[in-house]
Amino acid sequence: MLNNKTDRSERLFEEAKHYIPGGVNSPARAFQAVGTTPRFIEKADAQFIYDADGNKYIDYIGSWGPMILGNNNPGVLKAVQETIVHGLSFGAATGREITMAKLACEMIPCFEMVRMVNSGTEATMSALRTARGYTGRNKIIKFEGCYHGHSDGLLVKAGSALIAEGGSPDSAGVTENCAKDTLTARYNDMDSVEKLFEEYKGDIAAVIIEPVAANMGVVLPQDGFLKNLREICDLHQTVLIFDEVITGFRLAPGGAQQLFGVTPDMATFGKIIGGGMPVGAYGGRRDIMECVAPVGKVYQAGTLSGNPVAMAAGIAQLTCLKENPSVYEHINSLGEMLYGGLKEIIAAAKVDCTVNHIGSIGTLFFTGGQVTDYTSARTSDLKRYAEYFRYMIQHGNYFAPAQFEAMFISDQHTEADIQKTLSDAAVFFGV
Ligand SMILES: *Cc1c(COP(=O)(O)O)cnc(C)c1O
Repeated sequence: MLNNKTDRSERLFEEAKHYIPGGVNSPARAFQAVGTTPRFIEKADAQFIYDADGNKYIDYIGSWGPMILGNNNPGVLKAVQETIVHGLSFGAATGREITMAKLACEMIPCFEMVRMVNSGTEATMSALRTARGYTGRNKIIKFEGCYHGHSDGLLVKAGSALIAEGGSPDSAGVTENCAKDTLTARYNDMDSVEKLFEEYKGDIAAVIIEPVAANMGVVLPQDGFLKNLREICDLHQTVLIFDEVITGFRLAPGGAQQLFGVTPDMATFGKIIGGGMPVGAYGGRRDIMECVAPVGKVYQAGTLSGNPVAMAAGIAQLTCLKENPSVYEHINSLGEMLYGGLKEIIAAAKVDCTVNHIGSIGTLFFTGGQVTDYTSARTSDLKRYAEYFRYMIQHGNYFAPAQFEAMFISDQHTEADIQKTLSDAAVFFGV
């Protein structure tokens, strides 16, 4: 599987750039950070993805997480096919939304009520508005390198493609006034959190965090960190929000909050919850969620929210995950094999690299020390990552086109796939 031909992708990219900024509808797809052409995708099936030049790759992105069951899952597909014949959208209440809400409340420890939206961005933005409405306070704390979507107030020291862009991680077009209510602390550093609580005493509405960070590459919370955040939020009656857009339904059926046994007041979801359709959700404690309109005074709405086709896809995927714990055993054991294998390779090659992973997600950082926060993540050698990426994609491994992202394993991956990827990596590292 040597994928050298990219003529068609190159031609499509040239044309796309004429009509779409940078040729892409989301910067994370641009391949700018790895100095090659984005592959234009024709189709995906099971653990594979195929581009316009006919190249086949083992897919370690899975649409950035949603495809946990593999691409083109027959159950999800069937649910969509059965639903579309009855109309694509009604803009009115449906029974399917209750099914989804009940399922989500059964699976997610902190959920007593949930509101469906159309993306992770909407979910985090709405959760924060709700927390502010509930507490009557202004400030929020986020962590450097965590990404919570692209709403104005959250594009402050954010992760994901913002880091890969190079320069300042803050976006143009965000006013100072918008950014000033967003305080930033350092991941895994309680002192930095305590200082902010001290300085802004009585005005911190919420702390929002990725319980396992996956947008500065994968960075795990150190022992006790999430529990300490729970305690400080209790002490100050601040709403603790876990952004589980990546970790939700992936680290466990009940997400990171189930795995770590720390229950936030609210949580946000996206990606997996839609089964590949554009879906997000925010929810949590009943007394907080009852602040949302039309019950309460926090306004939030959506013409296509709870869309029947999207709900059908999400319900099919979540039901499958709830009923099949073997999915987690499988993807976690493949994760052990892949990330464990990469660790062995970099040890044998004696290179300055480090692997962070949990379950099926992980990142190979091109830096020697431990990566525990944004500062340490940023010591990575991005040129070297780009070389690694280009080698791996040429040999049929479709990775994230930037250092500060996760790899995703699906239930359709096999040990043979992982072995193939590891042997390609071994050749790249010369061992
Ligand atoms: C992807 C992501 C978001 C944003 O979701 P979109 O659906 O892209 O708007 C928010 N938070 C986290 C942790 C994410 O990974």
